[in-house]
Amino acid sequence: MSYLNKAAMRSKTGFWPNNRGTILGIAAFAVVIAIVPFTASSSMMNIAVFSMIFALPAIGLSLLMGLAGQVSLGQAAFFAIGAYTHAILLQKFEMPGPVAAVGGVVAAMLAALLVGLPMLRLRGHYLALATLGLGFIVMIAVREWEFTGRTTGIYGYGRPEVFGIPIDNNGLFFWFVAPFVLIGLVLALNLTRSRAGRALSAVNDSELAAESLGVNTYALRVKVFTLSAGFAGLGGVFYAYQVQIVSPQVAEFHVSVELLLMVVIGGLGSVWGAVAGAFIVELLSEGLRDLIPAIIPGATGEVQLIGYGLVLILVIILLPGGLYQVVKTAWAAITRRRADAAAKPSPAETADGGSGDVPTRAFGGLPGEPPAGASLDEATDAAASAPRIPTVSTPVAAGEPILVVSGLTKRYGGVVAVDGVNLTVPAGQIMGLIGPNGAGKTTCFNMITGAIAPTSGTVRFLGEEIQGRKPHVGAEAGLTRTFQNLQVFSSTDVVGNVYMGRYRKGRAGILRGMFGLQGREQYAHEEIARDILDSMRLGDVAGLAAGDLPFGRQRMMEVCRALAAEPALLLLDEPMAGLSGSERELLAQLLRALRDAGLTIVLVEHDVAQVMALADSVAVLDDGVLIAHGDPESVRNDPAVIVAYLGTDAEEAEAELKELEEHA
Ligand code: ATP
Repeated sequence: MSYLNKAAMRSKTGFWPNNRGTILGIAAFAVVIAIVPFTASSSMMNIAVFSMIFALPAIGLSLLMGLAGQVSLGQAAFFAIGAYTHAILLQKFEMPGPVAAVGGVVAAMLAALLVGLPMLRLRGHYLALATLGLGFIVMIAVREWEFTGRTTGIYGYGRPEVFGIPIDNNGLFFWFVAPFVLIGLVLALNLTRSRAGRALSAVNDSELAAESLGVNTYALRVKVFTLSAGFAGLGGVFYAYQVQIVSPQVAEFHVSVELLLMVVIGGLGSVWGAVAGAFIVELLSEGLRDLIPAIIPGATGEVQLIGYGLVLILVIILLPGGLYQVVKTAWAAITRRRADAAAKPSPAETADGGSGDVPTRAFGGLPGEPPAGASLDEATDAAASAPRIPTVSTPVAAGEPILVVSGLTKRYGGVVAVDGVNLTVPAGQIMGLIGPNGAGKTTCFNMITGAIAPTSGTVRFLGEEIQGRKPHVGAEAGLTRTFQNLQVFSSTDVVGNVYMGRYRKGRAGILRGMFGLQGREQYAHEEIARDILDSMRLGDVAGLAAGDLPFGRQRMMEVCRALAAEPALLLLDEPMAGLSGSERELLAQLLRALRDAGLTIVLVEHDVAQVMALADSVAVLDDGVLIAHGDPESVRNDPAVIVAYLGTDAEEAEAELKELEEHA
């Protein structure tokens, strides 16, 4: 589940959302905040206050799980750190309330940063287990430490005051905390639509592809983990104020489970869901407090966890997308019904003999595009002109080495996938890298781009050694790739994928994203992404979900995404695989045009004829060893290549050779 979807793809600037639905939602929330203290009963008011307090850590957890795809079972630890720090600063150090509150939030964030740095190198279940362990450590620490008051906790620090008015009843406290929730909600919503938020979602879809576009996934995760702890710490601050005693209970495992439940019930794909989930879980908690002892006489405390556990299981089985899924499905049904009603033919149209079908266009309104229903082949024939090319980066003079690979070797146990390969790629040329299946081409690409570390050897890109570094290092320097096995960001649309290609060209980080201070940067990158799609005749599908595109168009989209990064060196791993004849021709035209504009390209491709026709030089791998490297003509006639690449069968080799010559 991810925040990135078609609606979220639109850029925004300014603090307040510019999307009509979100503005309405925020206005409705503000109205609810204003009227609840006048209308709610005292028990409902209590639930409302705790919903607001727990909504804060739930928003943080929702960002961490929905946006960054990291499961945390220890959110209560940061909630407790915020609460304890706040209470200690108030009670032991007699600090003013706002200073103690900031102290609570900062302490939670610092703790998250410290534990996040080593922990966020872990993935999936390991991270969940590590955060679970962290929760237990904090709980035991505060229970055993004299300074934190052991089992008694910290108390006796007084209530907050605003402009001299003591916040001493639930109604006032609700008004005290709810605006923070509202602002937190807006900050979180802004983040989901920002450059950093989209990058986090992309990481969730394909970490490898995101890294290859320059996203430092580890740094982003640490930042969002720290931010999430900040939300938890703020919740803890309000909790300390409301409850007036901070005891080890606040760090107990069931608090983390409650927070998890809030996010899951609300729906992982929505920040709104976290707030709604907080309210539902608080209601449920109140209900279970009465229900469990009625079912199990004498049951108290942790037995309530059984109830939470059951609800969690039921939600996961019956409603994996939570409330968010329900709202989304209902909204889709309403809009579909409206669209159907609008599309119904008028009686006059039907009398005219019209079929009533709404005319569909396979291609959407680009100059030179063919009529509706035309296939891509026809489209290409109709628009035979060469595709427009995006800006290319040429940091090295043509012919100078841009990439130098020396002694590159990769061993997997006894298998030597790549064996001491030496290659120099001159700038401004297309180099073909060919070889039979299993020759080591993709492994070479993976080592050059940092997807895997070589066993030995060096990779020098633009004069700098990058072997063994993470893919984002090479990507930031201008090295971009596509993948043999497509790596599509399927939770966003096509333009969202290409927009991610612009990542290395942007600057705005998490803070700027949260406050909507990205200026025009984001719009500009989105425009460029659209332009590139148009130039590759994918403009008509820009708004479609990327995962819904046919395979060939997904491949073309990946090429567009790589080009959006304005790379100095483009590595294409079997870009022609799965393309139709006309798509291949279009791509070949594009690659020639890019080369003529100065871009350096390394092309791994099984379509040898295409490689021979396109490449300025060709390198041949066999069994991990570089057996030939030179101009296409000499490689084509190299006996070692013919035997090794085409097999030892002389007749077969001769037939293939003939075919190559015909294509040349
Ligand atoms: P293809 O054209 O079929 O994609 P390729 O030339 O790209 O092949 P690679 O995928 O690089 O070849 O594989 C080279 C060799 O390394 C193969 O023998 C493959 O089985 C082996 N290999 C690749 N990755 C691994 C791995 N993770 N563990 C073990 N062996 C591997």
